[in-house]
Amino acid sequence: MKLKQLIEFDKKHIWHPYSSATNPLDSLVVKQAKGVNIELEDGKILLDGMSSWWSVIHGYNNPVLNEALVNQSKKMAHVMFGGLTHKPAIELTKLLLEIVPKGLTRVFYSDSGSVAVEVAMKMALQFWYAKGDNSKNSFVTIKNGYHGDTWHAMSVCDPETGMHHIFNNKLAKQYFLPAPKSKFSENFDFDEIKPIVELFENQSGNIAAFILEPIVQGAGGMLFYNRQYLIEVKKLCKKYDILLIADEIATGFARTGELFACNYANITPDIMCVGKALTGGYLSFAATFCTENVAKIISNASPKVFMHGPTFMGNPLACAVALSSIKLLLKKDWKSNIKRIEKKLGNYLFEIKKLEAVADVRVLGAIGVVEMKKPVDMKIIQKQFLEQNIWMRPFGKLVYTMPPFVISNSDLDKLTKGICNVISGK
Ligand SMILES: *Cc1c(COP(=O)(O)O)cnc(C)c1O
Repeated sequence: MKLKQLIEFDKKHIWHPYSSATNPLDSLVVKQAKGVNIELEDGKILLDGMSSWWSVIHGYNNPVLNEALVNQSKKMAHVMFGGLTHKPAIELTKLLLEIVPKGLTRVFYSDSGSVAVEVAMKMALQFWYAKGDNSKNSFVTIKNGYHGDTWHAMSVCDPETGMHHIFNNKLAKQYFLPAPKSKFSENFDFDEIKPIVELFENQSGNIAAFILEPIVQGAGGMLFYNRQYLIEVKKLCKKYDILLIADEIATGFARTGELFACNYANITPDIMCVGKALTGGYLSFAATFCTENVAKIISNASPKVFMHGPTFMGNPLACAVALSSIKLLLKKDWKSNIKRIEKKLGNYLFEIKKLEAVADVRVLGAIGVVEMKKPVDMKIIQKQFLEQNIWMRPFGKLVYTMPPFVISNSDLDKLTKGICNVISGK
């Protein structure tokens, strides 16, 4: 098929994320990708500003990760996890337990971030069930959150920017607190904890767990909030007997400048989800961690088992590549590398803060965000980014970048200059 036919076929038969089947925008056809470059079928090479949604931290076609994947495929691509186990899962778990917040001792592997969130929520519900508490059935979360597209995950996404307006009466009703206001690098306003206390005073008997994205709210607004908020939430959850679920699916594996965003507050949640960058963007894979206490309570009461078990649980290929990706991350001085990216992102991006159309510019770790005053026109802005030879995927008012960690200084200049050129209309 010719390129044009490929695109037409795609448009006619294949759904893309959040797209129309009858009136979709054209998708670019990718031929291959290497490092920070995405090569299209028409020969154009784009500099990647997205890490394929937070995941490709070591760049595309990474020789170390390729090798891990190929080697494992020669042993076995998959075996069922019921009754069987394997070294890739065991070695991965050993390494993960060394780096996740202290006190998380148990892991449940699943196939995607949304499923990891479902598993986390189910764990919380089964925890209270095992304790004989039949009223702690709801969840509390903060506005502007995003936790995935599956059913229960959707119920704790922001009620306005999420999908509540469509599935309104069909979703479980959860408690929504105002989004944290105090910014990451500003002083904390202790008034922010008042609504939490008030809710907990009245409703803690109905709340199984508090679920939130620590420090960085991703798809719900790309907001960076104060670490004290997280510290206070942890304290209050403990005081009012509510489990804390940290969704680190976007923030995990150094993206924010700490290995996990919870480390900014020095807290250990009761349950924690990771995904996205877990396999360096190679395979869809996720994990839900919990404390010894949560695991034991669930397992001590009838039915004595945790009621979940995906077909591809603990997939050996995914475990092997995840192990290799985390080793590669830890081998390098990731902290100063993220600092380098943070500084470079700020260099140009803060210059456009003064533009009339720009509401805010913020940078944290390897995340750069330009918030516009009005929503961008995807069709127009996508074309403008193409002209700059960079790959960006803005949404709503947010033009944001989280490049692969292997990006060079000169490519960071190219990326941020390209963003500035598009936004300032050059
Ligand atoms: C992406 C994301 C999810 C969902 O992960 P999928 O792999 O897309 O199912 C959940 N929570 C957060 C914070 C995310 O960024």
